[in-house]
Amino acid sequence: MRNQPYAFIGCDAAYADAQWVVFGAPFDSTTSFRPGARFGPAALRAESFGIETYSPYQDRDLADLQVFDAGDLELPFGDPAPALTAIEDFCGRVLRDGKRPVMLGGEHLVTLGAVRALAADCPGLHLLHLDAHADLREDYLGQRLSHACVIRRCWELLGDGRISQFGIRSGSRDEFDFAAGGGVFMQRLDCAGFAEKAALLRGKPVYVTIDLDVLDPSAFPGTGTPEAGGISFAALQNCIAALRGLDIRGFDLCELAPGCDPTGISTAIACKVLREMLLSVYA
Ligand code: MN
Ligand code: MN
Repeated sequence: MRNQPYAFIGCDAAYADAQWVVFGAPFDSTTSFRPGARFGPAALRAESFGIETYSPYQDRDLADLQVFDAGDLELPFGDPAPALTAIEDFCGRVLRDGKRPVMLGGEHLVTLGAVRALAADCPGLHLLHLDAHADLREDYLGQRLSHACVIRRCWELLGDGRISQFGIRSGSRDEFDFAAGGGVFMQRLDCAGFAEKAALLRGKPVYVTIDLDVLDPSAFPGTGTPEAGGISFAALQNCIAALRGLDIRGFDLCELAPGCDPTGISTAIACKVLREMLLSVYA
């Protein structure tokens, strides 16, 4: 694989040397409200030169890491099934090469493609999920492959006791009842207890999916389904710090829709979240 001329800042290692592989999944066909998440990966790369590679939070520098940016997958916009297959295939290749995937959405449905590949590669995989929305619907308007159903589809793959959700403040009564039934752990409204949950996963394979709308819309308005009452960047930073030392096999950032925020603040925050995540999970 060749390096991109416009890679995310600090992610210019050669593929052969890389421990982590960043790629974009610019897909937003099942977005239920404001579309535009397909433009997330390109915006992240373009705006990444507005942040430093060095993190004063972690005293680590992206420039010291071996991260490769593979660019974006070419995905059929109107058809979720082949798009998910393409994501699964790409992640499978990365995993077979002994590397770990970082996916830039795209709407949240893209997570299912990555989790399929990770579940096949890592028996006993756990999923940490940060989001405003439960995403536990059985279907949304008859569509089972929807960003509103993605965690339910992941639960079907992983089973009971493998999924922990944080920040959830929106969903149908059925979704909250499903979580209360014990299939998934759900922390409502905020991310309290995240560090304790993360500590319990030490030594186990983990995939992390961050739907950026977990952040409060005042900090992160650039998303398709903004939901009031979200967490601060500082709270999200604490969650990211709690991942240090865990066996993170892959992660994603989803639902940045840069066109929904003409100020560009949302993209700037997403860039910083990606930097902090890479620095925290890198072995
Ligand atoms: Mn979501
Ligand atoms: Mn969401």
